[in-house]
Amino acid sequence: MGKSSKDKRDVYYRLAKEEGWRARSAFKLLQINQDFNLFEGVKKVVDLCAAPGSWSQVLARKLRGEDGKKEDVKIVAVDLQAMAPIPGVIQLQGDITKKSTAQEIIKHFEGEQADLVVCDGAPDVTGLHDIDEYIQAQLLLAALNITTHVLKKSGTFVAKISIMFSRQILVRITCLALLVSDQSSLCHHPSSGIQPSVNNSCALNSSETIRDRKLILFAFYLIDLDYNNLEGPNRVIVPFLACGDLSGYDSDKTYPLQLDPDKEYVYHPPTQGPINPPYEQACHLRRTDQLAKPLTTKHKKETDLVESKK
Ligand code: SAM
Repeated sequence: MGKSSKDKRDVYYRLAKEEGWRARSAFKLLQINQDFNLFEGVKKVVDLCAAPGSWSQVLARKLRGEDGKKEDVKIVAVDLQAMAPIPGVIQLQGDITKKSTAQEIIKHFEGEQADLVVCDGAPDVTGLHDIDEYIQAQLLLAALNITTHVLKKSGTFVAKISIMFSRQILVRITCLALLVSDQSSLCHHPSSGIQPSVNNSCALNSSETIRDRKLILFAFYLIDLDYNNLEGPNRVIVPFLACGDLSGYDSDKTYPLQLDPDKEYVYHPPTQGPINPPYEQACHLRRTDQLAKPLTTKHKKETDLVESKK
């Protein structure tokens, strides 16, 4: 694949590089903000599952200003993976399903509470829908759990959710279709039923609630279900609310490399390369020609000959 192929295939990937965002998901948060005015009056934010950091970049640019001068703004970003530093963002490396990570986040707020918690968490996908959905749900529960401790009443929580999971914990549903997402996205409002506890991130159905906070949840995939055959309480007709307008770019369309007739296409490298990726050693071995190569038939015959002589 050529260097510019992805630029052509995925317009948001390309715009992200042009505008200096670490990932195309920056546009999701920007789009949600456009429709929900998320950042108004916000000074304290937690960005859960933040790496490589494009949402943190958006938060820093929008809340601290382009020059990063607004120092009364606190942004705490957490991820399992290490993240390259972003000025004005406190970074924690940890697992959001662990009590110790929750406590560390809470410690950073020194008794105060956040105005906004965002979570774009996604586990490594196995391809087995049931398992993927389960892990995604656990991640969201962990995020909800931390949120109940750090988010102030009337604060806002934005997160990714799957439709099936939303049926278990939330009742009133409004769909939010983000132009940046490759698939449908959702927005939900909370019902009662979440028991906040840093000890048990899975407790449901209790009287403690997240009712006073605003939840904006958007789904990232739909599992293989024939929705037409669902009956009774399982049949949920989800009204859609589009985010953005149709004049924007379509993430599923292929665009010509020169979007603007007056501006020539220029290739931009990714804004921030991955830190310590698991494939780093393999890349090094390959560059230094030390990576094992598949045996050719001739090579195999020679090896067999040597072995037989031993
Ligand atoms: N919002 C990010 C951005 O704009 O750059 C992208 C987030 S990426 C889609 C999902 C992230 O979730 C990954 O970086 C992954 O490491 C993180 N993640 C998955 N499970 C996690 C966990 N248990 N604790 C913390 N982070 C987790």
